[in-house]
Amino acid sequence: MEIQDGIAVEPISDLHSIDPELVEKMAYDALVWSSLHGLVVGDRSVERSGRIPGLGMVHAPFALLPTAFPESHWKQACEVAPIFNELVDRVSLESQFLQEALSRTKKVDAFTSKLLDIHSKMLEMNKKEEIRLGLHRSDYMLDEQTKLLLQIELNTISCSFPGLGCLVSDLHRNLLKHYGEYLGLHSKRIPSNAAASQFADALFKAWVQYDNPRAVVMIVVQGDERNMYDQHWLCASLKEKYPLLHSDTYLYQILNNTHNVSTIRKTLAEIDEEGKLQPDGTLLVGSQAIAVVYFRAGYGPVDYPSESEWRARLLVEQSSAVKCPSISYQLVGTKKIQQELAKPNVLERFLDSKEDIAKLRKCFAGLWSLDDKDVVGKAIEEPGLFVMKPQREGGGNNIYGDDIRETLLRLQKEGTEEDAAYILMQRIFPIVSPTYLMRDGICHKDCAISELGIYGAYLRNKEKIIMNDQCGYLLRTKVSSSDEGGVAAGFAVLDSIYLT
Ligand code: ADP
Ligand code: MG
Ligand code: MG
Repeated sequence: MEIQDGIAVEPISDLHSIDPELVEKMAYDALVWSSLHGLVVGDRSVERSGRIPGLGMVHAPFALLPTAFPESHWKQACEVAPIFNELVDRVSLESQFLQEALSRTKKVDAFTSKLLDIHSKMLEMNKKEEIRLGLHRSDYMLDEQTKLLLQIELNTISCSFPGLGCLVSDLHRNLLKHYGEYLGLHSKRIPSNAAASQFADALFKAWVQYDNPRAVVMIVVQGDERNMYDQHWLCASLKEKYPLLHSDTYLYQILNNTHNVSTIRKTLAEIDEEGKLQPDGTLLVGSQAIAVVYFRAGYGPVDYPSESEWRARLLVEQSSAVKCPSISYQLVGTKKIQQELAKPNVLERFLDSKEDIAKLRKCFAGLWSLDDKDVVGKAIEEPGLFVMKPQREGGGNNIYGDDIRETLLRLQKEGTEEDAAYILMQRIFPIVSPTYLMRDGICHKDCAISELGIYGAYLRNKEKIIMNDQCGYLLRTKVSSSDEGGVAAGFAVLDSIYLT
């Protein structure tokens, strides 16, 4: 048996051997804990649960026990987080690279085209973002056969579950404190997870840089948001942040007893209706000045049902508010840019350190444009080895298996430029293990695979990097028979890791 930190490390016990009575007890305790600690989402069976807080709450779907994950790969994922943060920032400044890399996609994907139009307008205006805030989540799967930690994608907008993810780690730690002895598991092997307070800290620091004590943080939200509590956790943390005595703004806050940072929630349609720019670039929504705009909506076409929403997005971009993300940060997070960055000698354009480049490249899976005829041929022959991805976010958009073959053959036949809307990616096959999944108060055992997300925060003001940190994590575990697994979509559950 291996010993780490004085604790015997055993692989997570065989779930088949856990006494069903114990499972039932733990499941009950876990449900109580979730209810008492705000590990909740809006209940889809209650009509207004996505609009009115406190109404129709149900526990978030979660795994009853944490999932085993090798410590070395965990460390690897944490280590590259600041490098990815820096990469996003560097690439965001290369407007020409972004416009060129996405130029073919622009012709066939209306959503990407709209984003690029805003980006072009900002270039024409010579708009500079001096304070840049990124709240990212880089997602990985551990490929079972090669034992490689491979990046699925890097999210630069609307990363979900920094709030609830850390609660799941708390829940698991709590369960292991009570039942770990029977399971041969120790709560200390669950790494600490402070994603919510670290993200709130980044928002707070961005607010300080903006330096208008009367301005607030605005969260851009969907009108109906059942995942609102995940967001409210960040707002709560932001409100409770106590100032440090080292800058004038903080002093101002103390003297005026306004040490808490308020947040407001607005949809893009509301921003279009109530928003305006002052001559100095200040964004006003109603009469309220906005310091930081944190997008938890606006990542996909559904969030822009009319021109009104696009006007709001443009207005925000034109303003002096700190945008999380700016339009260029959002573009860096597209699948197409991910694929372009994986080409030989591209990272070298953006990063100086050879070691850093090697570390990032090590976690790149195979990524190809559909220009690559050999790879397209291979994908038609063996579609099971690939995932085909459009320029979309939020889950449920990828193409798998026989659908890849059909789509590729159709694209070949049509011979249009529609192929530029997609990329091909090597399919990653993580280890499959039995898991207890908790959903709607019911515990059910299934074979599952996991995806690790590492949160990262980056804040700079001109040449000064104020924050570049790894900020906690999220494990999502889904039944292995499902190709894709959004937590909200109903396949995946929130999980945490047990280091082995
Ligand atoms: P989105 O931005 O919509 O989340 P992703 O690239 O993360 O898009 O894909 C959604 C889901 O599809 C992932 O969470 C993962 O479950 C699955 N997936 C994506 N890429 C791969 C891959 N290369 N191998 C295996 N599964 C993948
Ligand atoms: Mg994504
Ligand atoms: Mg994803």
